Amino acid sequence: MIPVQGYAGATIAVLGLGRSGLATARALREGGAAPLCWDDNPAARDKAEAEGFETRDLSRPGALEDVTALITSPGIPHLYPAPNPHIAAAWAAGVPVDNDIGLFFRSFATEDWDSFDTMPRVIAVTGSNGKSTTSALIHHVLQSAGRPTQLAGNIGRGVLDIDPARDGEVVVLELSSYQTELARALTPDVAVLTNLTPDHLDRHAGKGGYFAAKRRLFAEGGPDRCVIGVDEDEGRFLANQLMEGPGDDRVIRISSGQKFAGPGWTVSARKGFLSEGRKGKQVASIDLRAIKGLPGAHNHQNACAAYAALRAVGLAPRQIEAGFASFAGLPHRSQIVAEAGGVTYVNDSKATNVDSARMALRAFKRIRWICGGLEKEGGLGGLTDSLGEVAKAYVIGREAAHFALQLPGIEAEICTTMARAVDLAVAEAEPGDTVLLAPAAASFDQYDSFEKRGEDFVATLRARLGTG
Ligand code: ADP
Repeated sequence: MIPVQGYAGATIAVLGLGRSGLATARALREGGAAPLCWDDNPAARDKAEAEGFETRDLSRPGALEDVTALITSPGIPHLYPAPNPHIAAAWAAGVPVDNDIGLFFRSFATEDWDSFDTMPRVIAVTGSNGKSTTSALIHHVLQSAGRPTQLAGNIGRGVLDIDPARDGEVVVLELSSYQTELARALTPDVAVLTNLTPDHLDRHAGKGGYFAAKRRLFAEGGPDRCVIGVDEDEGRFLANQLMEGPGDDRVIRISSGQKFAGPGWTVSARKGFLSEGRKGKQVASIDLRAIKGLPGAHNHQNACAAYAALRAVGLAPRQIEAGFASFAGLPHRSQIVAEAGGVTYVNDSKATNVDSARMALRAFKRIRWICGGLEKEGGLGGLTDSLGEVAKAYVIGREAAHFALQLPGIEAEICTTMARAVDLAVAEAEPGDTVLLAPAAASFDQYDSFEKRGEDFVATLRARLGTG
């Protein structure tokens, strides 16, 4: 745990008592503050009370009188689509609103560090897609190079839950736009933006708000190095704004597909080869094509982001290459889960939006595509130019027929259930085909989460293939 510094003796309100909320309350208590907890859900309050935390309805008049700061959870919309009443009460009372990420950055460095040979560092990764893969890949390569490292943030472990830093440690944080938008301290040593495509638009009142939330990671503290995906206008704009001139090495530009020329520090992947450029020269390259855990151009973009961040903390190209080779990939993200009879089976249940599904559809050949679920705003229009490799679609979800109607020009079978889709796809697949679950939709019409959907796909598949 990272005890929260700077609030000893103060009363700090904690709103939202999920995993990160409770971890925050514990870290505050450890640092000598008095946490005052609230969650609209009585069961969550009971859990906090069972740990001995005081609870109080923060929207009651006068409830914030003795409160120094309010710490809120990423799951709570604070401003858009409509202000949260507890947070609005803090605005009215002049109580600063922060989150666990802000507390982490103000508390991470301690006096023990004076005796360290190498200062601990933080790499923070944000972006629309590929955050988890990039963060996990950085963490994996550091581990395989024998460097002390911890992984936290949006990816499992709460940031205040990690252990105090060791000498030379690199902490890797995955941060969502919800987290970067509110943190009052954001001071990573290396900040990474993988890419930017519209998402969560209701929470940020449009794409501009979404971009503004993410770019705070680069603007608030001023990281030593900025790794920026420049395949979209927003990335190009941000990189330009942070650079003093064409040769400024503080910014490492990364791209999937672009060839960089001229001065500056760049990492790009083209046709399966990653190449690092400095001052107009190629200084290192890696063949990514044989790396099973990183299939497709989208993963090559993640590899570029990870490579750049790892170079920024001093790893050598050959150490990074060795780490990449043993990366198994993350569950539910373009994950090869079986190979049988010449057919490859891929679980990309995390492809909950059109953009991530498009990447998966471009990464594989001769695809039998299991898709469908709860459609996101904007429909499936963005997929039409990526269906060239689709041999047939097997549509699942409660609204499967409506979903299939939006896939003109490809054969689509209304399967509704995963069991039927897997049965048919397995029966019809021929050697050389890929059976790909990449739904381009959320899972909530049939499952609790994309993880549950992916697990159902894998279990059904194993039973059907007789490997379960
Ligand atoms: P995030 O944590 O940002 O949601 P993940 O690594 O969990 O990112 O991947 C989410 C989804 O996006 C998966 O379907 C994955 O295959 C796809 N994906 C991964 N990296 C990229 C990328 N660089 N660009 C587009 N899609 C990606």
